[in-house]
Amino acid sequence: MYEVTLIRGDGIGPEITAATLTVLKATGVQIAWDEVEAGEEALEKYGDPLPGETIASLLKNGIGLKGPLTTGVGSGYRSLNVALRQKLDLYANLRPAVSYPRVNSLYRDIDLVVVRENTEGLYSGVEHMVGSDAAESIKIITRRASERIVRFAFKYARQNSRHRVTAVHKANIMKLSDGLFLEAAREVAALFPDIEYEEKIVDNMAMQLVQKPHQYDVMVMPNLYGDILSDLCAGLVGGLGMVPSANIGDSTAFFEPVHGSAPKYRGLDRVNPVAMILAAALMLRHLGEDEAAQRVEHAVAAVLQEGKTVTADLKGTAGTAAMARAIAEKV
Ligand code: NAD
Repeated sequence: MYEVTLIRGDGIGPEITAATLTVLKATGVQIAWDEVEAGEEALEKYGDPLPGETIASLLKNGIGLKGPLTTGVGSGYRSLNVALRQKLDLYANLRPAVSYPRVNSLYRDIDLVVVRENTEGLYSGVEHMVGSDAAESIKIITRRASERIVRFAFKYARQNSRHRVTAVHKANIMKLSDGLFLEAAREVAALFPDIEYEEKIVDNMAMQLVQKPHQYDVMVMPNLYGDILSDLCAGLVGGLGMVPSANIGDSTAFFEPVHGSAPKYRGLDRVNPVAMILAAALMLRHLGEDEAAQRVEHAVAAVLQEGKTVTADLKGTAGTAAMARAIAEKV
């Protein structure tokens, strides 16, 4: 029996979480859920959007499944997602983008992995006004964080029989910060002679991913570039409803969809549950339940292939819960 922290999240979070639990139950893997709160509900109940017991639960169990959390734009509390990743030192954000059958997309057979640095860069949260008409955001890049994220990418590549790692940067302009990231990347790459290494400037990388996505494999990059390019990769495989993510540290990890809380769809039983279901499959792999993870991924593929019970973003008419039940049946 595994004990796993569960955060249902805001907006569409509760409905995609319920859908994901239906599928996980069908795998037969025994999980005791330690349910805790974060986000708008926690703020109302406890006066704190990220209560200490939520952090304590993740630290105790070492593993969690999480729905998306809403963050106000330009004001309000700091992003809870960023705070969670920083507090738990979950330095690696793994975002695989894989083509599934019959999903409406310009491309087929995409199999890309974005490895995003998750704790620093422009998401360090160091911002201030300079007088009333200028603002500064400080971008922090350290050798330690750069080395460990690039090492994570190479180890992931080796363990998953991938052949190439591309370091993505803007060191032509940010010569010190991205320059340091690149220097660290080259040093780590030299330790993995069995994996090909190359570098790409981020703007060129964006264009290359649209024009020739099949040429790429594992890509590793600082925080902001990873945030943007992973959504671009989601667009290559049918949209945000299709892409899971893992936040991984040395002793704790949690799994969530790449997408956010899509508040306008809240409670409508309309959104695609696949991103969170695939996040649960990543979680099963992390637990060593590879066979169950594979059954979930195959069930998702089978339901998409049939195309009968899929949600509106996939040009279907099924609701979130019905699609999850169809996937659970295949599991
Ligand atoms: P979003 O990802 O919530 O939604 C953008 C659009 O993508 C939606 O309007 C919808 O058209 C589509 N979409 C998203 N998920 C979908 C799904 N499962 N099925 C079908 N279509 C889907 O992005 P946003 O509107 O920019 O952000 C909303 C809130 O979510 C913000 O408060 C933001 O801070 C937060 N957010 C949280 C996380 C997280 O918890 N990890 C990640 C990103 C954004």
